[in-house]
Amino acid sequence: MFIDSHCHLDFPELVERKDEILAKMAENQVDTALCISVKLETFPNVLALAKAHAHLYASVGVHPDNEDVDEPDVARLVELANDPKIVAIGETGLDYYWHKDAPEWQRDRFRVHIRAARETRKPLVVHTRSASDDTLRLMREEGADVPGGVMHCFTESQEVARAAMDLGFYISFSGIVTFKNAKELKEVARYVPLDRMLIETDSPYLAPVPFRGKTNEPGFVKHVAEHIAELRGIDVETVAERTSENFKTLFRIGL
Ligand SMILES: [Zn+2]
Ligand SMILES: [Zn+2]
Repeated sequence: MFIDSHCHLDFPELVERKDEILAKMAENQVDTALCISVKLETFPNVLALAKAHAHLYASVGVHPDNEDVDEPDVARLVELANDPKIVAIGETGLDYYWHKDAPEWQRDRFRVHIRAARETRKPLVVHTRSASDDTLRLMREEGADVPGGVMHCFTESQEVARAAMDLGFYISFSGIVTFKNAKELKEVARYVPLDRMLIETDSPYLAPVPFRGKTNEPGFVKHVAEHIAELRGIDVETVAERTSENFKTLFRIGL
C-alpha cells in the first residue's frame, strides 16, 4: 500500500478526470492521498474532495507563489482547519525562485501558517525553493518544531535535510528523485532514514520516470517508491510500508 502525501487533485487537469484517477490509484495500490490547498479561494473544493472520499484528506493554506490572493490570518486558518478531514496546515513556506526579490509578504505569510499550526497542533506542509536559509530560520524563530511537519517535494542538500529533521520534520520525495540528472537528490534519498521519509507526487506536476513530461497523478507515486527502493537496495514493499506508517504518525490518521 502506497500513500501520496501531496497532490493537487482539485486542479482542473486532475479533477476533470477524477473517476479515472481514483480508479488508477486503486489499481496501483495507492490507498490514500493528501489533497493540498494553495489558496483560500479554492480551499472549499479541496475540502469537498476530502469529505466525499474516505481515503482522501486535505490541508488548508496559501502557497508562497500566490501573490494577489485572499491573505489569511492566524484566526482564519485556525477556523478553516477545524474539520477532522483537515490534517495539515499548508502548503506554505518560501519560494525565492519564482519571487527573486525575496518579498517580506512571503515571510509574513509563512509566520502566520506556523502560528496556526502551533495553535491547531496540525503539522505543516512546507514548500521551500531557493530559500532554505530563511525557511529554516523562520521555522526556528516561530517554533515550527512544536507542530512538526514535512518538507515537501524536497530538492535541497543533505545539510538542509539534516537541519529540518533536527526540527522533527519529515522529508518527502517526489518524482524529481527519479530524474537522471538529480544526482545529489538521489544521495539525499539514500541518506534520510526510513522513519523520517514520505513520498508524494505533487501532481499534476513532476511526473516520475517513466511518465516524465506527462500529467502526473497520485497513482504514479508507486514509481517514486520503486526508485527509492532501488537506490537503497531494499524492497519496494518496505518503502511503501514505512512511508505509509510515517504518514499516519505525522498526520495522526488511524487508517
Ligand atoms: Zn510546493
Ligand atoms: Zn504542491
